[in-house]
Amino acid sequence: MDVTGEIGEVRRLVAAARQRGCGIGCVPTMGALHPGHVSLVAECRKRVDYTVLTIFVNPTQFAPHEDLNKYPRPIEADLAACRAAGVDCVFMPEISSLYPPGYDTWVTVEGMSSLLEGEFRPGHFRGVATIVAKLFNIVHPDIACFGSKDYQQQSLIRQMVRDLNQPVEIVVCPTIREPDGLAMSSRNVYLSPSDRETAVVLSRSLRTAEQALLSGERDVAAVEARMRAELESKPNVRVQYAVIRDPVTLQPLTESQPEMVGLIAAYVGQTRLIDHLTIRLPRS
Ligand code: AMP
Repeated sequence: MDVTGEIGEVRRLVAAARQRGCGIGCVPTMGALHPGHVSLVAECRKRVDYTVLTIFVNPTQFAPHEDLNKYPRPIEADLAACRAAGVDCVFMPEISSLYPPGYDTWVTVEGMSSLLEGEFRPGHFRGVATIVAKLFNIVHPDIACFGSKDYQQQSLIRQMVRDLNQPVEIVVCPTIREPDGLAMSSRNVYLSPSDRETAVVLSRSLRTAEQALLSGERDVAAVEARMRAELESKPNVRVQYAVIRDPVTLQPLTESQPEMVGLIAAYVGQTRLIDHLTIRLPRS
C-alpha cells in the first residue's frame, strides 16, 4: 500500500495503475476509520482494481464553533485499517497543499446547500463540494464511493457531478450500524457511556415514523411530531430537525407518498449526530 501526502505522487501512482489497465476508485474520508468506511472500500474493490482512500479533515466544511480541532486523528490505526481492507493508496495531504495561501475558488451546489444540514451548518456544503471536486481533479477516479449515512451529502455530490459533467460514477453504499441500531460515525467516540445508550433513540424514532407510515398514517406533520416527541423524551437530546422529505429533492411533504426519507439531526449531550431512513410504502 502506498501512502502519500503529495498531489504529484498520487497522480503518478494513479497514472501508473491506469497504464496497467486498472479502473480507479476513490473513497473520500476524514479518517478515524470504522466499519462504515471499510464497507465503502469493499464496495470499491468489487468494482475497480485500484482504490485510493483519502484522509483529509477538511477545514472548510467546519464552522468556527465546530469540532475541527478535536476531530479524532488516529493515523496509525487508520493506516492499519486501510492495509487490512486492501486499499492500494492512501492520500493524506496537508491543509497547505490543498488550500495554499491565496486559495479562492469554491463550488456551491445551489438549493441543496441551504436545506436541512445547510440550514444548521451554513457553509458546510460549500466546503464539502469544493473538497470533493478537488479530490476528483487530483485522483481522476472512474468511480467514487460514498455512504448514504450522510444522505444529503451524497445527494449533493451526485448533483455536482451531474451539473459539472464530472466523469465519475458515484456509488452510494448503505449505512453500517452498531448492533443496537446506532449509525456508525467517527463522532460516536465523543459520546459518554450514558449518551451512547441514549443515542439509539435516533434510529428508533426513524423506525417509529416508518411504522406509522406503513400503518396508513398519511399526515406527514403528525409523523414528524411523533419522531420529535420520541427524541425529546430523552432529557439530553436536543433536536435540530426530525422530518420526512422527498428522497430526491429533500423538499417537505404534506401527505405520504410511495417513497420518502426520514432525516434527523440532534445533539445527544454535546455530540451532534445525524441519521436517516428511506421509507417505502407497499403499492396498493
Ligand atoms: P467521513 O469520514 O465521516 O467524512 O465519511 C467518509 C465517508 O464514509 C462518507 O461517504 C460517509 O457517508 C461514509 N460513512 C460514514 N459513516 C458511515 C456508515 N456508518 N456506514 C456507511 N458509510 C459511512
